Amino acid sequence: MYNSYSREKEVFKSLVPGHVGMYVCGPTVSGESHLGHARPYITFDVVFRYLMHLGYKVRYVRNITDAGHFEEEGREAEDKISKKAVIEKLEPMELVQKYTNLYHWAMNKFNNLEPSIEPTATGHIVEQIGMIEELIKAGYAYEVNGSVYFDVKKYAEHYEYGKLSGRILDDLLETTRDLEGQAEKHNKTDFALWKSAPPEHIMRWKSPWGEGFPGWHIECSAMATKYLGAQFDIHGGGMDLLFPHHESEIAQSTICNHVAPVRYWIHNNMITLNGRKMGKSYNNVIKLTEMFSGDHPLLEKAYSPMTIRFFILQTHYRSTLDFGNDALLAAEKGLHRLMDAYEWLKELKVDSLQLTDNSKEITIKDSSSVNQHQSSDEDLNAKVIRLMSQFDQFMNDDFHTAMVLANMFELVPVINSIKDKKIPADTLSKETLLLLQSKMKTYIEDILGLRTEEVLGGDKLKGVVTVLIELRKEARAKKDWATSDKIRNQLLEIGIQLKDEKDGGMSWGLT
Ligand code: ZN
Repeated sequence: MYNSYSREKEVFKSLVPGHVGMYVCGPTVSGESHLGHARPYITFDVVFRYLMHLGYKVRYVRNITDAGHFEEEGREAEDKISKKAVIEKLEPMELVQKYTNLYHWAMNKFNNLEPSIEPTATGHIVEQIGMIEELIKAGYAYEVNGSVYFDVKKYAEHYEYGKLSGRILDDLLETTRDLEGQAEKHNKTDFALWKSAPPEHIMRWKSPWGEGFPGWHIECSAMATKYLGAQFDIHGGGMDLLFPHHESEIAQSTICNHVAPVRYWIHNNMITLNGRKMGKSYNNVIKLTEMFSGDHPLLEKAYSPMTIRFFILQTHYRSTLDFGNDALLAAEKGLHRLMDAYEWLKELKVDSLQLTDNSKEITIKDSSSVNQHQSSDEDLNAKVIRLMSQFDQFMNDDFHTAMVLANMFELVPVINSIKDKKIPADTLSKETLLLLQSKMKTYIEDILGLRTEEVLGGDKLKGVVTVLIELRKEARAKKDWATSDKIRNQLLEIGIQLKDEKDGGMSWGLT
């Protein structure tokens, strides 16, 4: 896997054999999840799934940032959660609950597995205060007017600061803007571990330095240390978190735990929208609820969570990814094509086919040997085996889901040719067909996490209701009101409402 820290691909070796500890920065639940949240959580869901597929017992910790964090970069330090709470006239925790529920709902729609532990920042104030006290004791943090800051300059004298994000402290000291409240800091680059809460601040906790609230970076350090230990295997997040968030996490944890906290840093690249960076200032932030409903001026239609998941996995996680209607439509079509072929393959009764068993001629255990024998006159059976065996190679090469999907799209025409009887089924050996069935199932369902029923179920339901509407129309034409009512009422009972349109047609919707 590619390690953002060393900027190199490294062979993954877990700290404890057979076990993996993985921490991924969770959402700040001060607002609805948007498209920008889709990519990291789908990316790390696939990493989680693949590690489990390889046989690791994975402890996947993904936090909820519910104690308002403030941004060091940008405008004045502000507590996002309590600010929004005042505007919406809600209790902060009520707001936090609402957006946490919405986030979970969206994660579920994407078929992201639940993490092993989902700790909240508000539930770990004690641990954060403990870490801050240690940092002060070690001489790397100082208190001013009830706030505590991390001394970056001192840290940089003894440790490599900026290695992860590629920042150089001297440049930072020159370029970092003077922001409000900065007067308290010894240096502009120092970051807050604890902030004294002004009277209007709703979210506040007692601490040795007076009432206040924790900094964002210390949350992750405290929760990762508590559940994964002083040093753990993988830390993930979006590239936007490299600095200052992850750089600060490294500094804090290194002082408290006397060891570099993370062995492999994985960062997904960002998404753009029609070629532009997504952000509030561009007025192009699409919420996930809007994405699923199509209710946004930039969207031509609704896109299903599976289309978005598939679209994201079609690009390697370290490449940029541009969301646009054309690309999404193409992804939707591609996903249907893949799932149609897969559904047929899944139902195929291989044992009842009259196949010649020539499996002995093929070595499938050593995939590299298959590759070596690859030639222009490669027969179809060998080609199918090669395409399948490469799935593992691609995933082992820094989770290359895009290459796996590309191979699947080479397999789709083969499956369709057998389905349409354009080539005889015995072109492939029985063993190849069985392997194809199990391999496609493992990859599509277990590793890539694509849910078939949602892709095809929607269309099938549409088809069924259309048939029933036709039957009802025929019944009405024959003045068979009993049948007509029966269809309408029984559909309503299962939650499908038929509506008569002005033009004599009929529409339907889910109640
Ligand atoms: Zn974090």
